[in-house]
Amino acid sequence: MLTKRILPVLAGILALLVVVLLVRTFTPAGEEIAGEAFDFRPDGARVTRLMSESVRFKTISYGRDKPTSGKALRAYHDYLQKQFPLVHKNLRREVVADYSLLYTWQGAQPVSDSNKPVIFLGHLDVVPVVPGTENKWKQPPFEGVVADGFIWGRGTLDNKVNIVGLLEAAENMLQQGLQPNRTIYLAFGHDEEQGGIDGAKVIADILLRRGVAAEFLVDEGGLVTQGVVPGIAAPMALIAPAEKGIVTLQLKVVGEGGHSSMPPEQTSIGILAAAIAALEANQFPSDFRHTQSFLEAVADDMPFTNRLVMKNLWLFKPLVMGAFEGDKQAQAGMRTTTAATMISGGIKANVLPIDATAKVNFRILPGETPDTVRARVISVINDIRVDVTFDGSGQNGMSPSPVSPTEGFGWEHLTAAIRDTAAPQRLIVTPRLLVAATDTRHYRKLTPNHYRFTYMQLAPSDLASIHGTNERISVATLNDTVRFFFRMMSGL
Ligand SMILES: [Zn+2]
Repeated sequence: MLTKRILPVLAGILALLVVVLLVRTFTPAGEEIAGEAFDFRPDGARVTRLMSESVRFKTISYGRDKPTSGKALRAYHDYLQKQFPLVHKNLRREVVADYSLLYTWQGAQPVSDSNKPVIFLGHLDVVPVVPGTENKWKQPPFEGVVADGFIWGRGTLDNKVNIVGLLEAAENMLQQGLQPNRTIYLAFGHDEEQGGIDGAKVIADILLRRGVAAEFLVDEGGLVTQGVVPGIAAPMALIAPAEKGIVTLQLKVVGEGGHSSMPPEQTSIGILAAAIAALEANQFPSDFRHTQSFLEAVADDMPFTNRLVMKNLWLFKPLVMGAFEGDKQAQAGMRTTTAATMISGGIKANVLPIDATAKVNFRILPGETPDTVRARVISVINDIRVDVTFDGSGQNGMSPSPVSPTEGFGWEHLTAAIRDTAAPQRLIVTPRLLVAATDTRHYRKLTPNHYRFTYMQLAPSDLASIHGTNERISVATLNDTVRFFFRMMSGL
């Protein structure tokens, strides 16, 4: 009797559920906005030459304990001065901290609340080529060879594309007699690849002292790519409104030493190993928010089944999170990651170890801080014999960035410029948490609106070349980068 009454109710609920799922599936997330093509083509041969020659300056950051490539940086400054005469005639150029560059392009209108300046970042330095991998390069890393439609070499993508792209866009604007209404700063640090402490941080401090309050800031970090989400064929512009933080903790255990013939139950090495095993077995909890905003933004472009799932994450979230289990890239966007990276201890096979130490590197999701990470690590290890301290010279890591709004003038201007650069090709524009660190971190006080994005369309196979082997940029992409920065700056 009871089941007879309940069954229709259940059937009703089920039918309602199906309706809700379908309605959500077919409700678009937003109006589809098409870009408007604009009439500006850079001089492709010149842009190619500029990048090719830029690669030859070995502006390598080897790490803070090694000397800066000062000579190469200075030579690169001189080169830029010669190649961009109008920029250097019309913009104020300052050499900061010997090797970084700050350009100020005075706006046509005075600075006001509705006409705040905009900051564009880039960095002059590049990472070294890992010793032993030189012969894996199809073209030498520092010669700027142009072949197969690409300019080859270290720094082409990270990040001389911003230097050449921004300066060439400005040079072209000046050639056309264009001046932005807003004041524009071009800030090029020289040590991004080793933390930006000597370059970007000093530039940011100077701007702060001058009372600059910027409308928004654009830095490296996001790009255009294709085929990273199964089922979506259209290219995606990934803009990073936030980046993860970073902290390295040192775990240290001090043992008593002695002869290995009469060992205690656990040596300092054993205690340390157990601590690391505990950390790996107890990963930080996952937080789906950043992944969710990304998935919801791209769901409209997915085939039916995926779309049904992504548009109904209120129901299918556990399913999706389960599917991401074991996916390193997805995991990096969903939790504070734990990576034991160094270990040492012991001096001889028959001597009990005294000191045993390990370093564990964490990439911190927005919402946590280096302090909360350390507190959790201590509680997970739950062993007072393991001393947990911040690693590094007085720097207790870096908190994750605040999450910049995906609305407002900066966001709207940026996404419009991206769509216009792509037109008539259609692009999906979406926010995506950056799991790496950029110079932007030093500019937090100058504006709350930070967008990490460079217009360059890369195949997923080329993404690994950033900091890796066979870094290269296609001539077509580089032209688009210049067009994008032209569209960005001329609309300010
Ligand atoms: Zn970079």
